[in-house]
Amino acid sequence: MISPLATGLDAGAGAVVSAGLAAGFYSYASLWPGSRIFGKALTAPERPGELALTFDDGPNATWTPRLLEILAEHSVHATFFLLGARAASHPELVRQMAGAGHTIGNHSWSHPNLARTGARRVREELRQTSETLEQIAGAPVKFFRPPFGARRPAVFRIAREMGLVTVLWNAMTSDWSEASAETIAGNLVSGIGRLQERGRAANIVLHDGGHRDPAANREPSVTAARMLIERYKGTHRFVALDAWS
Ligand SMILES: [Zn+2]
Repeated sequence: MISPLATGLDAGAGAVVSAGLAAGFYSYASLWPGSRIFGKALTAPERPGELALTFDDGPNATWTPRLLEILAEHSVHATFFLLGARAASHPELVRQMAGAGHTIGNHSWSHPNLARTGARRVREELRQTSETLEQIAGAPVKFFRPPFGARRPAVFRIAREMGLVTVLWNAMTSDWSEASAETIAGNLVSGIGRLQERGRAANIVLHDGGHRDPAANREPSVTAARMLIERYKGTHRFVALDAWS
């Protein structure tokens, strides 16, 4: 068969998964953000010059408020993929995000690897999170980002059944383990430049929270976000994901 990656085929869930795919490939593809062989996902459109700042694993009691201040200072709208359990602990921060016009997405309740989670629990993780976020923010949740980017056909199907668009990314660096904001911002600037050359918008991931540590220090990530905003605000357009759906 023709490799789905070679054809760039944006296939429906499971359509091109065959016994011919080696187990190693399967596991690689399920964790690779650019891979779409397991279903349709939103990454970024062909709109060079548009940048979506997205923040995962929050809210975080210390760093999310600081980030919200920076976004407000520059009138930038972003997208927050929240963990349901953390949102339930900090409803005031979720309300603040929604009130400021940011987009709120579902990042599961407890951050499991969904490629290895049974369908019933996947459904429960997503349902409980959407319900909690909708109850707090008073608006429907449209977007879902799988923890670790890990997925399989059933995850796409369940998300779709719940009316959620699965979102991946195309610009990421290890901001959760990097102590230097300059390094984080520098790596993302290189990635954004490469995407721009290919005529694509950038769907940028940073972390304002930590899925293992609710009090994770996210100063470097939040400072990197400020550096990106200051660098690009005159030349690029910052959008929340609603602009692409
Ligand atoms: Zn995450």
